Amino acid sequence: MSRICVYLGSREGNNPAFRQAAITLGATLAARGHTLVYGGARIGLMGELANAALNAGGKVIGVMPDHLVEREQAHFGLTELIRVPNMHERKASMAANADAFIALPGGIGTFEELFEIWTWGYLGLHEKPMGLLDTEGFYSPLLTFLDSTVSYGFLAQATRDMLMDAPTPTQLLDALEIQLA
Ligand code: AMP
Repeated sequence: MSRICVYLGSREGNNPAFRQAAITLGATLAARGHTLVYGGARIGLMGELANAALNAGGKVIGVMPDHLVEREQAHFGLTELIRVPNMHERKASMAANADAFIALPGGIGTFEELFEIWTWGYLGLHEKPMGLLDTEGFYSPLLTFLDSTVSYGFLAQATRDMLMDAPTPTQLLDALEIQLA
């Protein structure tokens, strides 16, 4: 039973598989007794994920900067909503409150959060597992690019290997839980 931080889109994307992946992940986290930590919004995939975890009886902690409470429609039905003054505090709080990290499909906000937590791991600031949910091959171009970055000599293979990936929530959680054990 761990606290799993999930980064994902504040939009839904245009493939229903992304919404379904968020819902399945939320329900699976709750069923396995994990606490969900996320950005605290009601909108987009973020809202779908949180509601799925809550509906399955799970605990959900949201971390929302004050200036986004209206724009991202803060979710006031969570187990806990942590209000923070800015984006930096949001990421710091999410990281401090989590034992592992998952990125679902999303946009540049998702990418920024993922890359920051990965670089914190690479710099030795944490040893928490991290993984990509590669729904419908959304992250495949990025995974290919990361592997080519290794071959160009800009990324160590050991650092590349810190980022797991799997096509389904169940497979990704299975892999993360081995590292959390
Ligand atoms: P997006 O993937 O662009 O839909 O964004 C997903 C979430 O990331 C949204 O809640 C954004 O507010 C959030 N986000 C964007 N940039 C940052 C940042 N620099 N620090 C923390 N959260 C961010």
